[in-house]
Amino acid sequence: MTARLIDGAALAVQIKQQVAHDAAALTARGVQPGLAVILVGDSQASAVYVRNKVKACEQAGIHSVFDHLPGDTSQATLLARIAELNADPSVHGILVQLPLPAQIDPQSVIAAIDPAKDVDGFHVRNAGALMTGAPLFKPCTPYGVMKMLEQLGTPLRGAEAVVVGASNIVGKPMALLLLQAGATVTICNSKTRDLPAHTRRADVLVVAVGRERMITGDMVKPGAIVIDVGMNRYSSGPKAGKLCGDVDFDSAVNVAGAITPVPGGVGPMTIAMLMVNTIESARRDPRLKEAA
Ligand code: NAP
Repeated sequence: MTARLIDGAALAVQIKQQVAHDAAALTARGVQPGLAVILVGDSQASAVYVRNKVKACEQAGIHSVFDHLPGDTSQATLLARIAELNADPSVHGILVQLPLPAQIDPQSVIAAIDPAKDVDGFHVRNAGALMTGAPLFKPCTPYGVMKMLEQLGTPLRGAEAVVVGASNIVGKPMALLLLQAGATVTICNSKTRDLPAHTRRADVLVVAVGRERMITGDMVKPGAIVIDVGMNRYSSGPKAGKLCGDVDFDSAVNVAGAITPVPGGVGPMTIAMLMVNTIESARRDPRLKEAA
């Protein structure tokens, strides 16, 4: 069997077109959606992510504010900047690119963002509300995975879903969204005793670990939907240095029913959903109600 390719890049283009349409409609009503992105330090990988986010906003007609702060910025300075953005009515979403330099505590930074502008969905108020099914924002990567599954028409009610990786930003919210959709969910972490025994049961397998090609074809149930969130680089061989996922695509593609490539799978969807969250936030702008 050769799996169907799940084209996240193409779906992201469709979503961004809708975002551009929605942004124009909101702007016409006097509220241009706005996103503020803060990068602290000079990590090249983070700089690429941030550049892509700002570019995507500009292309969709979302107003963007980009702060690039030096690597030795103090936590107090960063928190003061977040307070300014919290109070700025032209900003509907605030994203602080992670990871942050060692002198800054990421939890304090996330906690300082107004939950109503927390378009990453990482604030404890939104993370907690996800448990009850009603967050203001869903974290972008798991939200994007749910959109991909929806587009594929994957039946989730009663399905066995296995999430490998239990981080606060991907694995845990992913599991909650799958649970809400009616799946029977297993979450695996680094202590899981027999990982293949779990992955081989999965009708839907989502992998978010950060380990180059750790899930091989023999760990995949024939016909399963495989979503690879991982973003790693080949450490050796002819493709050394090029992007790869947590799934060994070449072996898994012969077993799965559908699979995301890396790159071109989950990555573009994460940016698209950030923009969707910014639009959702702008729709709650009180100026729209006043004008109505
Ligand atoms: P993370 O915070 O490092 O979490 C990794 C998770 O994997 C942890 O829960 C860890 O378990 C678990 N784990 C580690 N080794 C394992 C093993 N052998 N078997 C099972 N589970 C294991 O990582 P993250 O932020 O969630 O990111 C995961 C990957 O997704 C990275 O490659 C990252 O770059 C990528 N990512 C991609 C996007 C995108 O848009 N495409 C977005 C976000 C992240 P413990 O809890 O026991 O430590």
